[in-house]
Amino acid sequence: MAGILVFVEQRDGQIRKASLEALSEAKRLAQAKGMPVSAVLLGSGVSQLAAGLGEWGAEKVFVADQPELAQYSPQAYAQAVAQAVAQAQPQAVFLGATALGRDLSGRLAAKLKVGCLPDVTALKWDGDTLQAVRPVYSGKALATVDGGHAVPVVVTTRPNVFAAQKSPTTAEVVSLPAVAVSGGYRVKEVVTSQGGELDVAEADIIVSGGRGLRGPENFALIRELAKVLGAAVGASRAAVDAGWIDHAHQVGQTGKVVSPTLYIACGISGAIQHLAGMSSSKVIVAINKDPEAPIFKVADYGVVGDLFQVIPALTEEIRKL
Ligand code: FAD
Repeated sequence: MAGILVFVEQRDGQIRKASLEALSEAKRLAQAKGMPVSAVLLGSGVSQLAAGLGEWGAEKVFVADQPELAQYSPQAYAQAVAQAVAQAQPQAVFLGATALGRDLSGRLAAKLKVGCLPDVTALKWDGDTLQAVRPVYSGKALATVDGGHAVPVVVTTRPNVFAAQKSPTTAEVVSLPAVAVSGGYRVKEVVTSQGGELDVAEADIIVSGGRGLRGPENFALIRELAKVLGAAVGASRAAVDAGWIDHAHQVGQTGKVVSPTLYIACGISGAIQHLAGMSSSKVIVAINKDPEAPIFKVADYGVVGDLFQVIPALTEEIRKL
C-alpha cells in the first residue's frame, strides 16, 4: 500500500483550511489501512511551513521552494506535484477543491493519465479501492465513484465538509528538484478583490442576500448581520448580475459551492442553480416574505416575513448575546 499524497495549498504563507481538511481525511483513511500520508508544498519562502504539517499527520513533506513558484503556474505546479508523485508512489492524491485545487487537479490527472474525482463530500474504502461520494445534477443526487485502475487517483475534497483535525507526528522534509517555469504566459499582477473579507468558500457561517434586497445599498443589512455573527457575505446571481455585489460573493452553480455550518438566505427564492451551491450547508435559515418560496423546501428554519424588519431585529438580538 503506497499511501496518500496531499497537495497543501498556501496563500501568502498561510496554509488553506481546505488543505488541512484534505490532509486530515487522508490521515483517517490511511490509518485504517496502515498507510503513510505525505504532503507536497509549493511556493516561494514556504520551507518553514513544511515541518509544521507533521502536526496534521504528514509523515513526509515534499517541498519545492523557488521564487518562480510564488504565483500559481499551472504547468509548473503540476510538474512539481508530479515529481512528488514519482517519489511517493501514492495510491491517491488529494487536493482541497479551491479554485486553485480544481484547476491543478485536472491538469495533474491529465499529466499522469489517471482519473480525477472532483468535489467529493465523502470517502471510504471498498476493499483496497477508494470510493468517493460526490453531488451530481446540481446536488440533486449523490454518485458513488472510484478512479478505476489507473493510480494514483486524483481527488478534490469539498471545503468545509471534512473536519480538520490534528494528528501529530514528525514530518521528514524532502526538497524537490527545481521545476522549469515556462509556458505561453506569465502572471504580471494579482488583483485581490475586496481585501479583508471572509471568503464564502471557506466560511463557517454565511449570510446571503438576493433580489429581495431591492438595491445595493441594502447589502448593508446583510453586512451588519454578517459582522455580528463573524460570517462571510454571500449573494444570489440576481444580486450579482444587478451589479449590487462582486461575483466573488456569488453562491451557486456558476458561483461558489459552499458547505458552511450555518447559511442564512435573505430575500433569495431558492432557484435550483442557487441550491446547487448551498444545499450541503449543515443548517439553512431562510428569510422570505413569500411562504411558497422554494428556499423553504431546503431550509431547516424559515422566517416568513419582510427582511427589512426581520434582519435588523435579528442583528439586534444577536448583538445582545
Ligand atoms: P428572485 O428569484 O427574484 O427571488 C427574490 C426573492 O426575494 C423572492 O423569493 C421574494 O419573495 C423575496 N423577497 C422580495 N422582497 C422581500 C422582502 N422584502 N423580504 C423578504 N423576502 C423578499 N443563481 C444563483 O443564485 N447562483 C448561481 O450560481 C446561478 N447560476 C445560474 C446558472 C444558469 C445557467 C442559470 C440559467 C441561472 C443561474 N442562476 C444562479 C439564476 C437563478 O436561476 C435565479 O435567477 C437566481 O438565483 C434568483 O436570485 P434571487 O433568489 O435573488 O431572486
